[in-house]
Amino acid sequence: MECTSYLVDTFDQLPPINEESLADIDNDLFSGLYYGGVDTPTTRQLSQRVADLEKGKFAVLTPSGQSAFNLLLTTFVKPGDHVLAGDTIVYSTRWLLNHFENIGVKIEYFTPSEAATLKNKLTLKTKLIIFENPGAFTYEVMDISAIVESRHDHPALIVADNTWAASLFHHPLSLGADISLISMSKYHGAVEGISLGALITKRKDLYVNLKTTSALTGNHVSSHACSAAIRSISTLGARLSFQMSTTRKVLRSLKPLPLLKQAIHPILQNTELHLQNSMIYGFNSLFTAEFSCSRNELISRLNRLNLIKIGYGWGGTTSLVNLIDTHDMPSAKRLGINSECARIYLGLEDPDELTRDLTNAFTQ
Ligand SMILES: *Cc1c(COP(=O)(O)O)cnc(C)c1O
Repeated sequence: MECTSYLVDTFDQLPPINEESLADIDNDLFSGLYYGGVDTPTTRQLSQRVADLEKGKFAVLTPSGQSAFNLLLTTFVKPGDHVLAGDTIVYSTRWLLNHFENIGVKIEYFTPSEAATLKNKLTLKTKLIIFENPGAFTYEVMDISAIVESRHDHPALIVADNTWAASLFHHPLSLGADISLISMSKYHGAVEGISLGALITKRKDLYVNLKTTSALTGNHVSSHACSAAIRSISTLGARLSFQMSTTRKVLRSLKPLPLLKQAIHPILQNTELHLQNSMIYGFNSLFTAEFSCSRNELISRLNRLNLIKIGYGWGGTTSLVNLIDTHDMPSAKRLGINSECARIYLGLEDPDELTRDLTNAFTQ
């Protein structure tokens, strides 16, 4: 089996190529294997694994988290339609929504505090309600149950980006979301250096729509990447539990750090009990640090870090730091964050060494 070649012994195992062959194999969409770009046993194994982790039934894999959003919008939205988006989504998702706005889709943003009254914003044209939970950089929690209740029987689909929780300790589908979206380029797969994404659902009709668009638009994923993801997912729980413990230790040690105005992480902004009330039963190792010094001073301090490297991305073995501009972020304005900020990702290094690295950079 190569990525797009699938070998069988007899012709009765391989349907003829015709217009229906894409969607007309037995009663089960794509149950037959006829083109590796659509599915292979390996991609199916990963789909099932991801669907199970997300407490869904079906998953459509995509080459990245960004392409998962693109597939979602391409499948369900056309010019003239209306999309509601949480204003705490990550900038790259916002850029993609801007792109769809340019081709005639109306994008309207809502704040986490509007979750319970979202029905006031629903129109006949509303197709999707998209959000990230918790939100990017400031980790504001979105009340999914309130959104589900407010949407009531309106047909708009509720789509939660569940990348932050790494499919482990928060399950939007169990709370009534229709689709859970993940980037697997973070905790799921970064330790294997891969890029993948997925859309997961319990609903067969949504799966059929997404899978058909995916096949038609050549949204193929490589079996090599999928087998690497299956390997890295086997250590996902162990890694996250170690990183949770690292995060507790490092956040505690940061309290007396000079120049640090505040650390922003869901367990600092909320009690763990409050998070559990929002059905969030764990946390990851990303946090935002707001400093009371100038950007130049911050950069010269961060340059002293040894173990923590400078870079974007997260979810892999290596701890990373990057600066973030919060000026354009509505959530930063709401929370009064107005000084220089860095985002720090704690990887799999020794937590005491990470603490020493940060302390040394800011106390000498
Ligand atoms: C990284 C990320 C994405 C985009 O995923 P890629 O795999 O990098 O394309 C989407 N949502 C969230 C929350 C992310 O962190």
